[in-house]
Amino acid sequence: MFLNFRPDETFARELDRADELADFRTHFHFPVNPATGKLQLYFCGHSLGLQPVAARQAVLTELDRWASLGVAGHFTPPHPWADYDADLRPLVAELVGAQPDEVALANGLTVNLHLLLASFYRPTRERFKILMEARAFPSDRYAALSQAAFHGFDPREAVVEMRPRPGEDLLRTEDMLEQLEREGDQVALLLLGAVNYATGQFFELAPLVAQARAKGCVVCIDAAHAIGNVPLALHDWDVDCAVWCHYKYVNAGPGAVGGYFVHARHAQRFDLPRFVGWWGHRADTRFLMPDTYELAAGAAGWQLSNLPILSLAALRASLDLFHRARMARLRAKAVRLTAYALALLDGLPLQLITPRDPAARGGQLSWRVPEARPLAAWFQEQGMIVDVREPDILRMAVAPLYTSFHDVWQLAQVWRARFTRT
Ligand SMILES: *Cc1c(COP(=O)(O)O)cnc(C)c1O
Repeated sequence: MFLNFRPDETFARELDRADELADFRTHFHFPVNPATGKLQLYFCGHSLGLQPVAARQAVLTELDRWASLGVAGHFTPPHPWADYDADLRPLVAELVGAQPDEVALANGLTVNLHLLLASFYRPTRERFKILMEARAFPSDRYAALSQAAFHGFDPREAVVEMRPRPGEDLLRTEDMLEQLEREGDQVALLLLGAVNYATGQFFELAPLVAQARAKGCVVCIDAAHAIGNVPLALHDWDVDCAVWCHYKYVNAGPGAVGGYFVHARHAQRFDLPRFVGWWGHRADTRFLMPDTYELAAGAAGWQLSNLPILSLAALRASLDLFHRARMARLRAKAVRLTAYALALLDGLPLQLITPRDPAARGGQLSWRVPEARPLAAWFQEQGMIVDVREPDILRMAVAPLYTSFHDVWQLAQVWRARFTRT
């Protein structure tokens, strides 16, 4: 991966000088250490991405328009609020590998998951199971358990996990395929995180989705840890539906509006049962306020409420950076950043649980460590933000828009020092 790899600081500086994305870092605010007043290095983009500098002005612009225009803001260009998402959906679609009409921006992730499952989890007596990865994000698990219960099934029977082999942390694609083959006839829904939040494993989605669909299962992907992190091809993989949030790698701010995907082959499936609100109505006649509804085609037909403009404004600022940086270049840099970290930490007695194969991970590296909390606190004292998942996982992530090779070098130095102290 690196010609002439060297562990010294000069090499880190050389890598940054050769990085064509290096300047994007200046478009972000780094948090300040309250004790020292110094900027902190940030390895927590898997949890909450940093604030793009342009986000403030984007939000202020909409506050000013609200102040000066009042209700007229709904229809006054540029970016009238009534279809504020029109030019954002293509940018998000680019990130998830979708057509613009397959994508909508609304609600939070878990809300969208439930709304889509109203249409896409339709259990029968013979086919009622929800198959998930072990150690899925808790909210997804709760959603699955409660969906099964809502439909009158015993959640412990209906929600089935794909588990790693004893003594292993990662799921093997061959085992997942085998389980789909074996149990698929009873599986109503495959609900899979694209990148697992704890291990950082990026699942091999193309064969998994194909196998699930061949067995007659509906496929829903949770791309929360994948969007803005790894390349996705939701349309080409033939996924039925997907959900994600924009506050992790997409940097749209705390509690930012979420997004979801419905495949184009369902665009005209007006027969699918669903919950309906006025924002799912055909846009051209919505404001005629008819008594009965005519659904919009595509993902828009699952929208309920009008758009959260202030949240979308911050998202606009962030998507502009992604569009300029381009996902392919960001992915290439992320692969190099994580490989660089692993090379620098090589030889330390550390247990990496994220895959060593760069194709099977994104920007996150997870480690099993004996004392995760004190270690995270140690990094914090050294001016670096990482996080912990109980009981023993230390997570850190590179975000190629704002992480430099020198950041990674400093992180490795600090960790090495921990081992050489007496
Ligand atoms: C972050 C995350 C969530 C968070 O759910 P919200 O509804 O946005 O609060 C859910 N699922 C996964 C897989 C996540 O990574």
